[in-house]
Amino acid sequence: MTRMTPGAERIVVVGAALLDGGRLLAARRSAPADLAGRWELPGGKVEAGERPEDALVRELREELGVDAEPLGRVPGEWPLRTPYVLQVWTARLRPGSPGPRPLEDHDELRWLTRAELWDVPWLDQDVPAVREVTARWRAG
Ligand code: C5P
Repeated sequence: MTRMTPGAERIVVVGAALLDGGRLLAARRSAPADLAGRWELPGGKVEAGERPEDALVRELREELGVDAEPLGRVPGEWPLRTPYVLQVWTARLRPGSPGPRPLEDHDELRWLTRAELWDVPWLDQDVPAVREVTARWRAG
């Protein structure tokens, strides 16, 4: 068995491509200062021993107050600040879920149509992920 090099641990950050009625949810960060005002796929860090899909559901409940269902992993993985890497799942609201509200980390939410997708200044690191989501997003 190979020991891991100190500092080589990866911590996965899960982001949600939350789709509803042909629109994608974008969330504007309110903190920290260097990210504030930029838009992201909502989500957060996977905790030790937690499955990424469970982290996604938990983060969306905490940040947006919604009851979400992960649908599938978007292929790819994008480096964030070391040791974080971003993985993205498509997701939808479960029937009866409240609509999303910015409860923490965000100060504005927008449901973007395909045509509006690039109207918001996404975090640089989310851009390739958003591009990958749209490549497999059926018109609607
Ligand atoms: O939301 P949370 O603070 O748990 O996210 C962990 C880190 O992942 C943040 O520092 C944020 O910069 C980054 N992140 C990101 N893109 C996302 C979600 C989180 O770069 N879609």
